[in-house]
Amino acid sequence: MKVRVLGCSGGIGGRNQRTTALLVDHDVLIDAGTGVGDLEFEELLQIDHVFVTHAHLDHIAMIPLLVDTVGEARSMPIVVHGSPETLRILRSHIFNWLVWPDFSSIPDRGNPFLRFQEMRVGESAKLGGGRQVTALPALHTVPAVGYQVSSEGGSLVFSGDTAYSEPLIAAINEIPDLRYLIIETAFPDALHDLALASRHLCPSLLALFLERIKAHPEVWITHLKPSRAQTTLDEIASYCGRFSPRALYNGLEFSL
Ligand SMILES: [Zn+2]
Ligand SMILES: [Zn+2]
Repeated sequence: MKVRVLGCSGGIGGRNQRTTALLVDHDVLIDAGTGVGDLEFEELLQIDHVFVTHAHLDHIAMIPLLVDTVGEARSMPIVVHGSPETLRILRSHIFNWLVWPDFSSIPDRGNPFLRFQEMRVGESAKLGGGRQVTALPALHTVPAVGYQVSSEGGSLVFSGDTAYSEPLIAAINEIPDLRYLIIETAFPDALHDLALASRHLCPSLLALFLERIKAHPEVWITHLKPSRAQTTLDEIASYCGRFSPRALYNGLEFSL
């Protein structure tokens, strides 16, 4: 199994800044931020599943356009997986015939372009090829989850957007074969209060989080604000924990 980074920034701009999206092999997305827009039509056509961490725009922006672009050319619906709360938000506020058509009833309810699949924390989806995606508890301003993506070669955890979360730490510590941890750090320490209010992490909170992780995964940082990225990375480096977190970047590929 391969996991490729399509977008990992807290903003847009230029060739390098894309919002959150990971491509698992050729057919599964974890979040669908603006990075998905770099895929060719033939690649978009192969996406069968989208696992959404939460309903914020930077994580779901490309779902409406993806479905509209490939729907007619596919024989099966694209399945959007998320918590019941997240799917309710997407139905009510995006696929509501006002912002975008309800593609779960187009061209008809029996054979739609899009299907919503509820997934609660702790539940797993089996994807074939021995691959599995499991929802982990996260803590954000809206209902949010992280995901564990597993195959025979081990597990990758993606935190999604989250504050410091004991349940998430506990869930990560339950994973015996954890190889990669992709975790957000949206703000530098100078914006600690904003990080708390918006339920994101800053370097000092990340350090507390990582101190509690028992395994020894590679740690990769995502969701850096473009204007504050270097400051944030310098602060992370200064904490000198037993992990040496690195900044995630577009095109990076993990093998599992
Ligand atoms: Zn968010
Ligand atoms: Zn976000």
